[in-house]
Amino acid sequence: MPAIILKPGREKSLLRRHPWIFSGAVQHVEGEPALRQAQDIASGATVDLLSSDRDFLARAAYSPISQIRARVWTFEDEPVNKEFFRKRIRSAIQSRDTWHLTPDTSHLTPDTNAYRLIYAESDGIPGLIVDRYADVLVLQSLTAGSEFWKETLADLLLEETGLSTIYERSDADVRELEGLEPKVGLLRGTLSSPALSEAEGFIFPLTEHGLKFNVNLQSGHKTGFYLDQRANRLQVRTLAKDKDVLDCFCYTGGFTVNALAGGAKSVLGVDSSADALALAKENILLNDLPADRANFIEGDVFQLLRRFRDEGRSFDMIILDPPKFAPTAAQAERAARGYKDINLLAFKLLRPGGTLVTFSCSGGVDAGLFQKIVAGSALDAGVEAQIVAHLSQGADHPVALHFPEAAYLKGLVCYKAT
Ligand code: SAH
Repeated sequence: MPAIILKPGREKSLLRRHPWIFSGAVQHVEGEPALRQAQDIASGATVDLLSSDRDFLARAAYSPISQIRARVWTFEDEPVNKEFFRKRIRSAIQSRDTWHLTPDTSHLTPDTNAYRLIYAESDGIPGLIVDRYADVLVLQSLTAGSEFWKETLADLLLEETGLSTIYERSDADVRELEGLEPKVGLLRGTLSSPALSEAEGFIFPLTEHGLKFNVNLQSGHKTGFYLDQRANRLQVRTLAKDKDVLDCFCYTGGFTVNALAGGAKSVLGVDSSADALALAKENILLNDLPADRANFIEGDVFQLLRRFRDEGRSFDMIILDPPKFAPTAAQAERAARGYKDINLLAFKLLRPGGTLVTFSCSGGVDAGLFQKIVAGSALDAGVEAQIVAHLSQGADHPVALHFPEAAYLKGLVCYKAT
């Protein structure tokens, strides 16, 4: 087995079961006796991680180009093969069953057919994301290791779910860091429904808490839909009755449609993407909701909030669900300014007694820092507000206790005092 020998003392994170080894921790890499050369080890191949004293620490996938040089498959001295991955996939499916997230057992969510089946490190399969949209699995392979095992993983996913179709959306930018080209297209089976033609952009209808959403499997963000916000969209539905709602960064209308379904008086959705807004409008009609209560503006939220402030516009509920401003802690400061800006403006535009639903999906900004930023925004806006709920990603996006990086989505529901 090829091996990575760590520098003295650099085994500490592995002993705490954190699954990443950075290039700076590597003393040297040894090929198999037959190969000898580290450069002969295939990208994604399985390697042993050994301490400087050559003690076995873990078995991992080798990423020769990435700063994250190895990602751990197992801390046990066990074979990494098809049966190994079968166990991991089974365990991930069982966790979703326990949380009633699968269609067959879903008494908590009787009418939801889309959820995350495999969440990478948190499910013990770094690099692999699988979202289930009814009978279609959408797979994202993000690292050298998941790419190495992709065909095996695809076979296993079909064997363990009994499904027959996998659509691949391995087009996230992070693949570049691993030296991988983007790949999009069918990996297994067929997309048979007439709506799923390539020309139409593979539009797929999913159901979430009883509402229907058309999702573009081919070009939608992530695997097509922000499944991580499922519970929070329902929360907005329960809060929206008779309110004038401003949904900033509305994408394909996840929160907009829920606000309308919850009886909002009006909803204004804002996004910079015309394609996303076209789907948002479709999604309102798909649910027979009153389209005359919804309006959309294609534009930049930062500018629009300023314009609304200058015009003296006001709302009962404002949702802020911006894209990732800071993927890593290094960009946290710039991100903090962005969050401060939009939250401050939102507090000003809120009527007294109004509700702010504000999110950050930046891995580099943790929940504590986000709360401080929002507090600073209220202070500078000159408003009194209180937190009435803390929100996060759903149970189908679990956080392995040894991998806190998996907890990226945080949200606050704030009540503005009268
Ligand atoms: N709330 C959505 C997900 C939002 S994703 C849901 O639940 O489905 C973030 C969205 O912000 C994307 O649709 C992107 O097009 C949009 N966006 C990014 N920067 C923007 C900007 N400066 N102004 C307006 N929209 C922006």
